[in-house]
Amino acid sequence: MKISRCRVSGNEYYCVINGEDVRLLSAPPFEQIVYNGRTIKKNDVAFLPPVSPSKIVAIGLNYRDHAKEFGKPMPEEPLIFIKPPSAVIGDGDDIVYPAMSERVDYEGELAVVIGRLAKQVSVEQAKDHIFGFTIMNDVTARDLQAKDVQYTRAKGFDTFAPVGPWIETELAPENLSVKTSVNGILKQDGTTADMKFSVYQIVSFVSQVMTLLPGDVISTGTPPGIGPMHKGDSVEVAIQGIGILHNRLV
Ligand code: MG
Repeated sequence: MKISRCRVSGNEYYCVINGEDVRLLSAPPFEQIVYNGRTIKKNDVAFLPPVSPSKIVAIGLNYRDHAKEFGKPMPEEPLIFIKPPSAVIGDGDDIVYPAMSERVDYEGELAVVIGRLAKQVSVEQAKDHIFGFTIMNDVTARDLQAKDVQYTRAKGFDTFAPVGPWIETELAPENLSVKTSVNGILKQDGTTADMKFSVYQIVSFVSQVMTLLPGDVISTGTPPGIGPMHKGDSVEVAIQGIGILHNRLV
C-alpha cells in the first residue's frame, strides 16, 4: 500500500494512493487505516512529504564501499546522527543551496518509517515497529561536514531532508537497488544487500538510545558514489519497490 499526505481545500490529510485515485484518511495511518469517504484524482492533489516526523535519525557509513571512498573505517556499531524535522521537504520540492556552503552533496538512502512506539526493542521485535519504507536524500554540505566536529550544521539546513514520494508498506528491505542520478546521469548504483547493519539491527539499536514514535524516520545510510550537486541540478533517487524521489537544487 502506498501512503502519503496531501493538502485538500486547506486541510492536511494522510491518504492512500491507489493508481490514479487518492483516498483520504480520517486519522494517521499508523494504528489502522480509516478512510474518510473522499476520493480525489491524483492529478488534482497537492502532495506533502509523506511523514511529519518528531525526528529523523540517520546512519553514517553503513555501506563498506562508501566508507572506503570516504577514507573512513567501518564503524563497530551504527553511527547515528539527527536531522531536524524542519529540514523535511517532499517529492518535487526544491533543495535550497545554503550561502554558508560551497559543496552540497546528494546521498540516496532507504528510509524506515516507524509505525509503533519503539523503546528498547530487540532485533527480532523491530519488524513489528516498522510501518513501511520511503526514500530519503540525505543532503549534506560536505565542506561543512569536514570543518565541523559533528554533523548538525552540515546535515541540518532547511530543505536538506527530501523524503518521499510515499511510504510503501509492503516491502522486504533486504535486497533493493538504490540509484541516484543527477541530470539523468547515474551516480550511485547500490543495493541494500551491502548494508553492514540491517534495517532491523538499526531500529533496535536506535531504540536503545531514544524512544521512536510513529512517523519517525530512520535513514539507513548511503551506498558509494556520493558527489556534488550544483544550482539548477535535478536529482533523482530511485529505490526498487518504492519509486522515485525527485528534487531540484536552487
Ligand atoms: Mg547519509
